[in-house]
Amino acid sequence: MNTINQASLRQSRGIERIIEGIATSDGAGVKLTRVLSGKLQRRLDPFLMLDAFSSVDPDDYIAGFPDHPHRGFETVTYMLSGHMRHRDSAGHEGLLENGGVQWMTAGRGVIHSEIPEQVDGLMEGFQLWLNLPSQRKMSEPWYRDFPSAAIPEYLTAQGATVRVISGTSNGVAGAVAREFTEPLYLDVHLPAGAEFSTVLASSHNAFIYVYRGAVTVGGVNVESRRMGILDNAAEADGVTVNATEAARLILVAGRPLNEPIVQYGPFVMNTQQQIHQALNDFQTGHFA
Ligand code: MN
Repeated sequence: MNTINQASLRQSRGIERIIEGIATSDGAGVKLTRVLSGKLQRRLDPFLMLDAFSSVDPDDYIAGFPDHPHRGFETVTYMLSGHMRHRDSAGHEGLLENGGVQWMTAGRGVIHSEIPEQVDGLMEGFQLWLNLPSQRKMSEPWYRDFPSAAIPEYLTAQGATVRVISGTSNGVAGAVAREFTEPLYLDVHLPAGAEFSTVLASSHNAFIYVYRGAVTVGGVNVESRRMGILDNAAEADGVTVNATEAARLILVAGRPLNEPIVQYGPFVMNTQQQIHQALNDFQTGHFA
């Protein structure tokens, strides 16, 4: 792996707000922390949801997410630890494991299941929902599994190890690129005292979620299991994160769509009429 000299920024973004997330359950009783939903969908447009999973108790996850539909957006599942098998109505099937990513574009509709395939041990990861622009909401469904080894990684001279799931960071292109929302999705591992910087367009909405240790951004602490929403300061050309102790975090950014968001459960469209259509199509068996 090459060692990269990271961007030297003119000015870093700061932390606008810290979000704790809400403990809840979904699917057939999977315990998780919903970090992003509801009102934050507008602030963090084009991101619609972030769920964080982390448990060593199989009762918290084993039932998984049996058959359910999606329409109008993309789901990105990043498995840090554990095994999850997915199957969809088009006959696709895959096993997501330790460090792997599944990127699924629901488009006009899929029905799929996501079921853990382990009987004990740690299951940890994230599911991020990324909106589609109105003209792509009814596109053909698509998905791809990326095993851990297929996720580009780089090291910095300052000691960071960075996995690039999507977008481009410090000149390294990730596994996935999207033209409308230009999502950047990084998993950043920092030893104590290390500093990490990457360029961000100031118009793009961005956040970090720390899942190990603690960091500071512009002097503000972000503890483990907290999201820090990054401000959109016009003069900032990126973000710099300092690890006050050994830390791991995801950094997510994207270009806002600025379109109406109408969500009903697993359907995210632009109008109520489109939601009614989605329900009708689902109930009459017209999903994939
Ligand atoms: Mn799903």
